[in-house]
Amino acid sequence: MSEPEKSFSAIYLLLRNRFGFLNWWPGDTTDEIFIGAILTQNTSWRNVEKSIANLKSAGMLSIKSIAAADVGKIQPLIRPSGYYLQKALRLKNICLYITKNYGSLSVFLSQVMPVLRLELLSLTGIGPETADSIILYAAGKPIFVIDAYTRRTVQRVFGEASERKYADLQGDITRGIPRSISLYRDFHAQFVELGKNYCRKKPLCESCPLNGICRYAERIRATIEK
Ligand code: SF4
Repeated sequence: MSEPEKSFSAIYLLLRNRFGFLNWWPGDTTDEIFIGAILTQNTSWRNVEKSIANLKSAGMLSIKSIAAADVGKIQPLIRPSGYYLQKALRLKNICLYITKNYGSLSVFLSQVMPVLRLELLSLTGIGPETADSIILYAAGKPIFVIDAYTRRTVQRVFGEASERKYADLQGDITRGIPRSISLYRDFHAQFVELGKNYCRKKPLCESCPLNGICRYAERIRATIEK
């Protein structure tokens, strides 16, 4: 199997051919996308949706209203997304920081990407995946989001002993595909789709769109043929 066959653009094309254009990240407003990116840590999107719906019905789905609210009022609303005591405090502090220092989320997000990323990473409760999700989906700036699905799939396809580090994998992918917000969003969504439906903990290789280029699947086939 040659490297070009296993390039990131080849992986993208195979996924795109199977799943179509996905460009995933739900949210009607920038505030909703920003809040969702923080709430989705360590939980499924289905649970985040319940919290978002609660915040919406309480008229609190905005950075300004969360910054102004008591933590005790936020906690029950975001309970469905888990770790709600910690998440409510972190979310409130992040929103407070933005409103105090920038006045609005749009001003905060309008900073140049490296500055914005550094500042996001300096806030308690925001790691690289959350920071990059906010930059790509809420700020609309081109950075590739690496999540657990992406790391697992890449490790298996390339037959690597361990998962690549966040920054290494981010660099490898962005060097291998054109720099485009729409493409970054769609490719991230493709990895999520694959991870949920095929490249699970227990993978479903037989029907996977990457079967023909995947080292892990190749090893399984070789074991069966022995
Ligand atoms: S062929 Fe199997 S291991 Fe490889 S990406 Fe698909 S599901 Fe994952």
